[in-house]
Amino acid sequence: MTEFRFRGAVAPLRRQDITAAAPLPRTVDGIVAALRPEEPMHCLRPAQVAATAGTFLAAFPGTTMYAVKCNPEPGMLRALWDGGMRHFDCASAAEVRLVRSMFPDAVIHFMHPVKARSAIRDAYAQHGVRDFVVDSEAELAKVMAETGTASDLGIIIRLALPKGGAMMDLSGKFGAEPAAAVALLRAARGLAVKLGVSFHVGSQCLEPAAYARAITLAAQVIREAGVPVEVLDVGGGFPVAYPDILPPPLSAFMAEIGDAFEAAALPGVQLWAEPGRALVAGGASVVLQVQARRGGELFVNDGIYGALSDAGVPGFRFPVRLLRQTDAAPVPFAFQGPTCDSADRMAGPFLLPGDVQEGDWIEVGQLGAYGGCLRTAFNGFDRAGMVDVIDAPLLDTPGYFMPAVAA
Ligand SMILES: *Cc1c(COP(=O)(O)O)cnc(C)c1O
Repeated sequence: MTEFRFRGAVAPLRRQDITAAAPLPRTVDGIVAALRPEEPMHCLRPAQVAATAGTFLAAFPGTTMYAVKCNPEPGMLRALWDGGMRHFDCASAAEVRLVRSMFPDAVIHFMHPVKARSAIRDAYAQHGVRDFVVDSEAELAKVMAETGTASDLGIIIRLALPKGGAMMDLSGKFGAEPAAAVALLRAARGLAVKLGVSFHVGSQCLEPAAYARAITLAAQVIREAGVPVEVLDVGGGFPVAYPDILPPPLSAFMAEIGDAFEAAALPGVQLWAEPGRALVAGGASVVLQVQARRGGELFVNDGIYGALSDAGVPGFRFPVRLLRQTDAAPVPFAFQGPTCDSADRMAGPFLLPGDVQEGDWIEVGQLGAYGGCLRTAFNGFDRAGMVDVIDAPLLDTPGYFMPAVAA
């Protein structure tokens, strides 16, 4: 759950001016050789992100919106837009403002079940937001009051799910239990021009059947409510690969969702999805520099208070690559982050050539999701740069050794 805390990134990622310095084509290796960065350098892969967005949009049988919290970097949002994304799932006033300022024509959905009154007011009155998620009578009343009892609202009821098999459980915090969801659907029907049910199976959900179970539960709730419903929103949670995890392909999730939706037989209902991680994880990496080596511990310039939060206690393993040619065989390393907190350690293991030394650069992949957005200013280590690159995601890069996936 720590993945979803919001901690303001004090220094925004600073776009590096590489026009003079770095050679074309813009590769990670070329840019690092030219800039020799001593601060973490985020490497965006806009073409990769656009292609991934296009793939998801084509595969999902309904409306897809991007969950902005996963990576709100303007360069990332622009790449998603270029890939065809037109709907955005926002959770705060700042996310709504950002998306609207970049894309006047975007459709913004306010998908947080507990909102500041001013956020509801501004989203509706200033930013053209019409769809709001609620999971209680009190929040429904708030939305009605702050929109002046608007007559053009979409109200989506967030349904609580039993704890499932996702790596990041999201069942504990939001969502109405089925009986309460039934009551909410009935209460909201007369207030909304569009009524829906949403859920979230949890992030990095490895089990396609989790979506089918949730769809079946949502269909039961809809039937019991006995009112017309227009939207069934299957949320986010679609997984990506990490070095020790090879999830079922996206097509398996789509097939399961399609079958369950068909079996639920809900005429007049359209599907929505809110993917975050699956769209952007492969779309950014971070280049670290080694500042000291003590045995198997590499002291690097980013850590759990920076973009590597999930490599700490959540224990995600990330693909890594040394930016230097060597014949040394790979051995396991742990990373120590730059802050003075002894918790700022990432156990990995990170497989890197045995001769890694001070001054080396290491690229850490799959950090497009829940990486840069979780940075803090703790201990003054909040500065990081950003560049666009044409490289493939690290897990697809020749030379990156994909360790055997444990059965
Ligand atoms: C975080 C979140 C998402 C995105 O989840 P991923 O696991 O990144 O796909 C979608 N919807 C809601 C309501 C969320 O809180």
